[in-house]
Amino acid sequence: MILFKKAEQLSDFLIKEKYQKQNIGFVPTMGALHPGHLHLIKSSTDVNDVTVCSIFVNPTQFNDPDDFKKYPVTIEKDIALLESSESDVLFLPSVSEIYPDGLNELIKFELGILENVLEGEFRPGHFQGVCQVVHRLLKIVNPDILYLGQKDFQQCLVIKKLLNITGLDSKITIKIEATIRETDGLAMSSRNRRLSNEARKKATAINQALLFVKENLKKGSTEKVLYKASRMLISKGFTIDYLKIADAETLVETDNWDGELKIVVLTAVFIEGVRLIDNRMIN
Ligand code: AMP
Repeated sequence: MILFKKAEQLSDFLIKEKYQKQNIGFVPTMGALHPGHLHLIKSSTDVNDVTVCSIFVNPTQFNDPDDFKKYPVTIEKDIALLESSESDVLFLPSVSEIYPDGLNELIKFELGILENVLEGEFRPGHFQGVCQVVHRLLKIVNPDILYLGQKDFQQCLVIKKLLNITGLDSKITIKIEATIRETDGLAMSSRNRRLSNEARKKATAINQALLFVKENLKKGSTEKVLYKASRMLISKGFTIDYLKIADAETLVETDNWDGELKIVVLTAVFIEGVRLIDNRMIN
């Protein structure tokens, strides 16, 4: 695996690969790698000639400075994991490499309602930050296929929109991979390692509440099922930012389901000051 810290050197390398008709798969991450990330990498190495993984904890997407400070960093372990995967390239840039003009010279992307609902409502500015970094990384890597996890459902829709408004969708295909879970159903996340043993056990309730909604939701009002699911979380000590059912394409909230519309249940909860998100497609 080749490690690049400089954007220009990585771009030069990848331009030469592309010139030799090599297909490039790209897996952007914030590190503290786990099997969810490795699944994306495997999906890329299965079909691409060159797989690039980036590790960059992006400051502009953290609305809470404390969350940024506490974000787990395990670079040595990540490099060892990547060495044992078939990833070809690791891009490990500094903040100034991604933001050479500083953190205030940012482009504004018109993301519409996607930016203000669910995660957007509770993390103002988060998706603008995601777009800043993804747009810059895509310009550097110029991949054929971009790999994203369904775990971050809203982020997938935001990045699709970003590609659409920047015209990059004519050059880059997005592949969305299923959420990889622990054996008890908890979605794997870099943030899980901040949980105490006790909170880690309670965290199985997140997946259980989502499955409860998936299995019990019927045509009509969504209120009762959501209420019962929220009790499952609150009784374990979770604080809920949101637990909502939404149109899986637009993320407009659905409080009365016609039984046909493709919908998704999404949640964000806190325990011990750690914020966890998850979702399940309903149909
Ligand atoms: P992150 O490092 O959390 O920014 O995640 C990097 C990429 O990995 C994103 O596309 C995530 O959606 C994806 N990802 C994170 N957790 C999982 C998981 N449990 N299963 C599959 N993909 C994941």
